[in-house]
Amino acid sequence: MTPRIYTSHVPDVPILNTSIFTRLFAPRASGDIGGFSASLKVIWRYLSPTEFATTTRPSAKKGDTVLIYSPNSLAWPVALYGSVAAGLRCTFANSAYTSHELGYQYQDSGAKLVLTAEEGLRTVREMFAGLSLSKEDSDKRIVVLENNLRWAGGPASKTFPDACGLVILGDLLSRSALKLEEKFEGSAANETVYLCYSSGTTGKPKGVETTHQNMTTMVDIVSGFPPLIPGEQPMLGILPFYHIYSVSNLLNYLFTVGCPVIIQTRFEPVEFCANIEKYKVVFAFLIPPVFVVLTRHPAIDKYDLSSLEYMLSGAAPLGADLVKMVQQRLLSKRNPGGKCCITQGYGLTETSPSTHMLEFHDADRKIGSVGHLLPNLKVHLVEDADGQVDAQEGQPGELWIHSPSGYLNNVSATKNAITPDGWFKTGDVAIRDKEGHYYIVERVKELIKYKGFQVPPAELEALLFTHPEIADAAVIGVESIEQVTELPRAYVIHAHPEQVNSAQAKAVFANSIVKWIETKVAKHKFLRGGVGVIDVVPKSAAGKILRRELRDLAKQEVARG
Ligand code: AMP
Repeated sequence: MTPRIYTSHVPDVPILNTSIFTRLFAPRASGDIGGFSASLKVIWRYLSPTEFATTTRPSAKKGDTVLIYSPNSLAWPVALYGSVAAGLRCTFANSAYTSHELGYQYQDSGAKLVLTAEEGLRTVREMFAGLSLSKEDSDKRIVVLENNLRWAGGPASKTFPDACGLVILGDLLSRSALKLEEKFEGSAANETVYLCYSSGTTGKPKGVETTHQNMTTMVDIVSGFPPLIPGEQPMLGILPFYHIYSVSNLLNYLFTVGCPVIIQTRFEPVEFCANIEKYKVVFAFLIPPVFVVLTRHPAIDKYDLSSLEYMLSGAAPLGADLVKMVQQRLLSKRNPGGKCCITQGYGLTETSPSTHMLEFHDADRKIGSVGHLLPNLKVHLVEDADGQVDAQEGQPGELWIHSPSGYLNNVSATKNAITPDGWFKTGDVAIRDKEGHYYIVERVKELIKYKGFQVPPAELEALLFTHPEIADAAVIGVESIEQVTELPRAYVIHAHPEQVNSAQAKAVFANSIVKWIETKVAKHKFLRGGVGVIDVVPKSAAGKILRRELRDLAKQEVARG
């Protein structure tokens, strides 16, 4: 039987053969304004390819990979687009990573250079020391994105106390002359430009190869969503820039629509509200845990948030009840009739990223839905692992998306995730209603998401195995209704079970593991769901951890209190 394939109700956008840099920054004749602000124009003009390559030591040449390791800052897009203009690939690391986590990504991506914020410098040096590089050698591979970035003129290095021997972004900018970016034409548009890390369905984080064409297509797919007035209506840049959600939607939007972005380094409720009031923010890309705070925090009633017209959530499920609570809370502050439209999108790092968006005009009618399929994409909803059986109309099925993605240097992971005819298996279960709106109802892959951040169980399990008192371990996600997120929880077997044969001994051991993990990983991977000490990790005959059994066990434990 022919499989039932769904397409978008919106016409496809044309596929371009240019680099993402050219798409975002080349002046365009009409319509699309190409209208980034004057100051940002300065950024890319100054950070020209040849200077970038020759000033950094050892020079990162065209096609090499650079790793950006920084919280949100003005320097971030400068580093990103400067590198892209220089013909480099970029990989982005979570700015909370430990030296060990950073080292994994640095090596796996084959990066030649690290562009780090000042506060990340110590971790980067620690990482290089861990890779047995001398300080002198490692400093040659570092560019510092100073906090008070200077565009041009003046010795920027003087502003940065630990600058000696390091390349400073401000210095690079001031030394660079006006030059055009590297041009990518034709098939070069299919070259990888970004390597975001995702664990996908299973295993450790892998570099997702995102091409120029993936990005240019995404720019055109999401443009006009929401319909902001070019150059005028401010957006809030609060999500971490290193996630594909920001790189593609927020930053691409910034440069194509040219709306100011108010950069916030991390979510802090009072600063969030103060920024909205001060800059009359119209639009914010957010994640569900932020909405939870919005329902409770007293700052909501103290600031004027009436400029806020649109909020778009992604990266994790946003339930209908939560949306209603936030709207209620905002309405109580606002003029009667005034209303902020809340909607959500769905996607994955592997699909670069957005595949579904709930249109603003459907926000109330289809609350809880991730909306329609976006153009240029195809969906297959399948009932079985091999994709032989279609899900019945209106029934749940795993979402397979036709998408040209792949993992860097990882043929087997790519093969596992993508069928020979190009279907990417998302590991998420969706229902499609009669009007073509999709609802994500379950996640069947092992990935855990803590507040929108990926926590790959395999990574924590590998770490737990290095603990001398652990014989076996499995990590799952448990639901926190209170925080509207999953929490990572480990089940471990003690190497000498006789040492933990009382409830108290088990609790002490479990607690020590929670603390131990906190010394090893970034905060979002902490075992906030706790540790359970068990006798045996349930596994299939093939040795695969039966996570569903562990999830059931966790539910029973909660029920027992
Ligand atoms: P990432 O690659 O970090 O963006 O994670 C992708 C995963 O996040 C998806 O496979 C889903 O499990 C989850 N996700 C993203 N957006 C949504 C959403 N709107 N609703 C439910 N899950 C989502």
